[in-house]
Amino acid sequence: MTRYDCIVVGLGAMGSAAAYQLAKSGARVLGIDKFSPPHAFGSSHGDTRVTRAAIGEGVEYSQLALRSHALWRDIEAQTGAKLFQRNGCLTISGTDAVVMHDVDDFFANIGEAARRYGIPHQTFDTPDAIRARYPQFAVKAGDRAILDEEAGTLFPEACIAAQLELAARAGATLRRDTAVARIDPLAQAVEVVTADGQRYLADKVLIAAGPWLPRFIADELNRHFTVTRQVLHWFEIKTNPERFAPANCPVFIWPVPQSREVHSSLYGFPLDGDPSLGVKVSHEESGGVTDPDNVDRARSPQAEIDRVYRAYIAPFLPDLGPRCLRTETCLYTRVDRSRFIIDADPRDPRIGFVSACSGHGFKHSAAIGEALAQQMTQRRAAYVDLEPFRLKRLAPYLRA
Ligand SMILES: Cc1cc2nc3c(=O)[nH]c(=O)nc-3n(C[C@H](O)[C@H](O)[C@H](O)COP(=O)(O)OP(=O)(O)OC[C@H]3O[C@@H](n4cnc5c(N)ncnc54)[C@H](O)[C@@H]3O)c2cc1C
Repeated sequence: MTRYDCIVVGLGAMGSAAAYQLAKSGARVLGIDKFSPPHAFGSSHGDTRVTRAAIGEGVEYSQLALRSHALWRDIEAQTGAKLFQRNGCLTISGTDAVVMHDVDDFFANIGEAARRYGIPHQTFDTPDAIRARYPQFAVKAGDRAILDEEAGTLFPEACIAAQLELAARAGATLRRDTAVARIDPLAQAVEVVTADGQRYLADKVLIAAGPWLPRFIADELNRHFTVTRQVLHWFEIKTNPERFAPANCPVFIWPVPQSREVHSSLYGFPLDGDPSLGVKVSHEESGGVTDPDNVDRARSPQAEIDRVYRAYIAPFLPDLGPRCLRTETCLYTRVDRSRFIIDADPRDPRIGFVSACSGHGFKHSAAIGEALAQQMTQRRAAYVDLEPFRLKRLAPYLRA
């Protein structure tokens, strides 16, 4: 039986990054995935992801995004793939709606991170200033905005494919369409058993199973994770398609109140090519808790699409029409206060895990994979500090 230095379970955003970085460092790596990534069953599909550098969820995240941006550029140079389009992220905030990803001071944090890390940015202090530059957004009295100029769009399927290509080129063994059934810590090694009965040994195992992660970790950790169904929408452009061309439209985030108590957020992307394919605009809702193996992936009923258009699109993006051209279903795996958890399994320090990062992890995944690879091969994480995301650091964020 071949013995590996490291086995990576799950080859989505986090696992493909870790497998590539491990292989690049010379480790003997086996990567295993139950599907054939990139695929549309987990958390990393739907054409685009927002990346930002000045991070509203907390200034501790900016180091991850900035390092990831450097890595995406390096991977683009090695593979020729287009992974990152830098055209800024505009965060719009009204006086009554600043909560985003459970963070009350999201908007203030962006400015703080931009100043601390010297990230180029512009501020728009009045609705008129926003309208003059970006007429596609129907801002109201009291709205203000900040443009993170280092931000933009990531193409998640291309990011995963490129990292798996580089992992294979560097010597990693990749097993696709192979589900891991068990991970057993033995005295001399960790054994990974697949559903088809194969057994593999390694010194270390990283679990990067996204929404399936809770099945693999200690029971006492499961209570921290909630998997919800999220729907992505592409709405038709009714008027002024030029306003959504990348030159005129950054990615955007807009926390909006649904009521005094309930806050959600709207986010969207510039056109990626043909205007007739519509603009991808999504919103975050707490959604129903779901089981990743039994998710309803059918197109939403028309009544639900009409509700989304009335609540999230028409009041904010009047150039978009009610016709929804495409939907995709994707999975969020949230931890309290939308935190990340990246740590060793309390049952055995040879088994590490990385959470699916609460709906905002893709942009950080390249740097997280690199830092995990450095840790697993006994080197110090050279570029970023994963300490803020250890389990023991979660306590202040837990809900009562
Ligand atoms: C709708 C939506 C929008 C988002 N928007 C953004 C955004 O704009 N910006 C951003 O930064 N982040 C965003 N995120 C979050 C981001 O996409 C996730 O943080 C990230 O994709 C999580 O990656 P992962 O590797 O943990 O999970 P995945 O990419 O889902 O990978 C997990 C892998 O594990 C495999 N696996 C599971 N079980 C097994 C098993 N038993 N054996 C073998 N393999 C297994 C799966 O097949 C899968 O390939 C969004 C997420 C969603 C759902």
